[in-house]
Amino acid sequence: TAGPTAVRRAAAGSVLVEDGDLPALQHWIAGAPASSTSTETLDVFDPCTGQKIAAVPAGSVEDVDAAVAAARAAGRAWAATTPKERSLVLLRIAERIESSAEALARLESFDTGKPLSVSGDDVAQAVDTFRFMAGALRTATSAAADEFVTDHLSVIHREPVGVVGVITPWNYPLLMAAWKIAPILGAGNALVLKPSEITPLATLKLAELIADLLPAGAFNVVTGTGPVVGQRLSTHPDVALVALTGSVGSGRAVATSAAASLKRVHLELGGKAPVVVFADADLAAAASSLRAAGYWNSGQECGAGCRVLVHASVAEEFTRLLVAEVESLVVGEPGAGDDVEIGPLVSKGHYEKVVGFLDRAREAGISAAVGGGPAEGPGWFVAPTVLVDVPAGAECAREEIFGPVVTVETFTEEDEAITRANEVVYGLAASVWTRDAARSHDVARQLDFGTVWVNCHLVLASEVPWGGFKGSGYGRDLSIYALDDFSRTKHVMHNRTR
Ligand code: NAD
Repeated sequence: TAGPTAVRRAAAGSVLVEDGDLPALQHWIAGAPASSTSTETLDVFDPCTGQKIAAVPAGSVEDVDAAVAAARAAGRAWAATTPKERSLVLLRIAERIESSAEALARLESFDTGKPLSVSGDDVAQAVDTFRFMAGALRTATSAAADEFVTDHLSVIHREPVGVVGVITPWNYPLLMAAWKIAPILGAGNALVLKPSEITPLATLKLAELIADLLPAGAFNVVTGTGPVVGQRLSTHPDVALVALTGSVGSGRAVATSAAASLKRVHLELGGKAPVVVFADADLAAAASSLRAAGYWNSGQECGAGCRVLVHASVAEEFTRLLVAEVESLVVGEPGAGDDVEIGPLVSKGHYEKVVGFLDRAREAGISAAVGGGPAEGPGWFVAPTVLVDVPAGAECAREEIFGPVVTVETFTEEDEAITRANEVVYGLAASVWTRDAARSHDVARQLDFGTVWVNCHLVLASEVPWGGFKGSGYGRDLSIYALDDFSRTKHVMHNRTR
């Protein structure tokens, strides 16, 4: 078919980034590029062509130890700064990112294959995260003091936790880093961050860009694999808390390793967001919202509206509207024009995983109203897909596919819709579509997800908490709650009479 299986290519010979735009392909430790004790490297690929574009160090345990020592040394002075001082630093970081916004967006697109419109949005959101945390941290101070016991003055302090280990995923490398760095530094901690081995470039560039704004060692980057670098961060005795955004399996591995030293753990894991469409909903609005919310970032989005549960009486009409939206999506390389909406998947392994889900769905007799398999090569492009008449409990409606795939199931009773929406291991996000205000409140309260949107999907702001229930983890990013997650509470009681 036309449309989504065709891939628009950038003009021959055009380049997204010049050599000088690339960061130093080394760790960033104690305020400077640092070479690894390991000679092994990890290749980085262009998802649009499958060609190798860079190689970064496969960091060692010793590299992590050096970065943690640097963070520990810098952390004492950073923890002693005033909220106002930290706030000013975060504002300067926001400004620095903003002034390099286009270069960062190009680099992010180069590494992930995502359209420039998506990486541009990521950079803008990263800037806003720093600006929000710069203000929020000044309100999230300690200073609760009162005489709760006669003659005894209680002072309740909010303190940094110490050195934080951060492990980020490949879907929004720069933005997920910003979501951690801003509240972690804002709360007075130092950190060591391990970017995904698949997409390390923008994080290294960020370290380079903001190095002169921070005390050396407050923010360190160590590249490498989960089982080596991530694992060491999860077990290191001087790391007080480890924060991971990633898959359920990695979350379990990190929590298990962290248990031995009783480290605090902050987890943002996968999702499988149901989109519950009632018969009275504005069907055209729901379908056009899903054009973005189901396919943004090629569906490599933990909150993506990827599982429609629609009332049987309007299923045909809704599916027709959704398919028309998906048929007109523009798939292409980031350099192929501003109107490109969908890029490739991030890696060969992930492409094979998504195509495997589509193959198994087809073998199970589930049909695709549009898409259903790979798009034109080269590169790791998958055609935007709508799977229809999906039976309850099918693998494609239960598991996180994390690609440009939306499944459509039908329901007849409200209770049935809620029960089935909740019947997944994930609990990150969901949406409800109805014109009935009372129903929207009732259903939203009964959905077991950390975010529920009503008549919208995937709308976020720095002020609102983002995080899941159940298999989606228990950390909160963004909002004042993220500052709580990266702080600890101390009570000091003074006897005033002695
Ligand atoms: P992933 O779990 O494969 O990798 C995430 C990070 O964990 C990487 O840096 C990886 O190297 C590291 N890691 C892997 N194994 C590890 C181990 N044993 N110990 C320590 N670290 C380890 O996830 P991904 O494929 O990069 O990202 C996609 C996943 O992330 C999806 O499940 C998606 O839903 C989730 N995600 C969630 C959110 C959210 O806010 N909840 C946001 C973005 C992505």
